[in-house]
Amino acid sequence: MKQVYTIGDCIGDVTSNVRRGHFRKGRGIIMIIDMHTHVWGGQYEAHTRDLLKACELYGISKMYVSGIAAQYPDEQQIGQHNLDVYRFMKEYPELVEGYCYATPRNGNSLDVLKQGIEEYGMSGMKLWIATYCDDPLVYPLVEQCIEYNVPILLHSFHKAVNQLPDETVGTHVANLSRRYPEAKLIMAHLGGNCYHGIKAIRSCSNVWVDISGSLFRRDEIDYTVKQIGADRILFGSDMPGCTYVLNFGQIEEADLTPAEKELIYYINTLKLFDRGFRPALGGNK
Ligand SMILES: [Zn+2]
Repeated sequence: MKQVYTIGDCIGDVTSNVRRGHFRKGRGIIMIIDMHTHVWGGQYEAHTRDLLKACELYGISKMYVSGIAAQYPDEQQIGQHNLDVYRFMKEYPELVEGYCYATPRNGNSLDVLKQGIEEYGMSGMKLWIATYCDDPLVYPLVEQCIEYNVPILLHSFHKAVNQLPDETVGTHVANLSRRYPEAKLIMAHLGGNCYHGIKAIRSCSNVWVDISGSLFRRDEIDYTVKQIGADRILFGSDMPGCTYVLNFGQIEEADLTPAEKELIYYINTLKLFDRGFRPALGGNK
């Protein structure tokens, strides 16, 4: 019979999972952190419910969340997205960490970032599809993130057709990395097409990648590990738009040792978001 969960069930169990430090003996996974999830604008109730349910079903110990919706959001929309994430953080402080979503095209973007990190206690910055990530408009935000020493999650998606105007791909991430080798950058979705994205950032030692997006086959995980090693790969799902189980299955099936899986599932994320950790300089070519 299909188990039906209420929000209350999920909350109770999620909290106890976090307290216990989730442990799956059979698979040897100590913890799973999903570092790429969203609460889409205007869908707070539905999306937070879906995310909480997934945490319970799949034993996710922590999620990093950002709010997004329109390609070019105005100041009011950005403000609401960040308030949504802040609300979720306050409701589930042990489970939810936030990214501050900023749009470099808006005149107040630096103030938005400062409010997100200093007032809301967010852990990183999210940039989406309003500008290429190496656009000079982005520089002040990156410099502020370096000062805070917080990671920047960069949507990055190389498409064969229908590439959006202003949509970042791996070569833009590589440009930003070379300009700011001290920034902690995350190229999301393996760059969309890993054979384009990973190649672009392979020698950029301050670029991590996440596997979120549910579009990939396990071969692409194997390829990425061969190119950049397991210690620059982060586990994310892109829920609620994408499914968790597909991303999880890709890691489980990939040609990885148990120690490499642990790096990807949570150790790399803990390290990257630690404000005491800085990328080693001099690694970029
Ligand atoms: Zn996403």
